[in-house]
Amino acid sequence: MSVWGFNRTKPMFIEDNMNVEKFVYTLGHGYEKFFQGLKEGKIIASRCSKCGLTYLPPRIYCEECLDEVEEFVEVKQNGFIIGYTIQNIDKDGNELEEKIIWALIGFEGIRGGIFHKLEGIEPDEIYVGMPVKPVFREDRKGSINDIKYFTKID
Ligand SMILES: [Zn+2]
Repeated sequence: MSVWGFNRTKPMFIEDNMNVEKFVYTLGHGYEKFFQGLKEGKIIASRCSKCGLTYLPPRIYCEECLDEVEEFVEVKQNGFIIGYTIQNIDKDGNELEEKIIWALIGFEGIRGGIFHKLEGIEPDEIYVGMPVKPVFREDRKGSINDIKYFTKID
């Protein structure tokens, strides 16, 4: 028991059902370009025309100069691992039969990145800075899952 009155060593979550028949989530201008790009097998970022910073996911206002960002650019798809973690258990604490490797993928000259799964890489061969590339699905819908996973570049 901690001073907070609960055991902090176990993950806390609330499990329940939410009855939602239909919902609409408005993406906004930047994310609309991003997801449309994924549908076309591209990774789209936005670039500030005033200071030149390029954002992924796309931002519509520059964090540095506060200017409106209206330019969208295609990102060179070869990226690199910024950081990663290996998921061994599910949310209930049950051991996973197959571990899932999650990584933040960065791209040269881009501020930000994409958080996604890694496949085709053994955990002991992963390192920060490792070059990786996306593997896209054939049937794309405009979703982050249009990228199946990132894998190493041979
Ligand atoms: Zn700027």
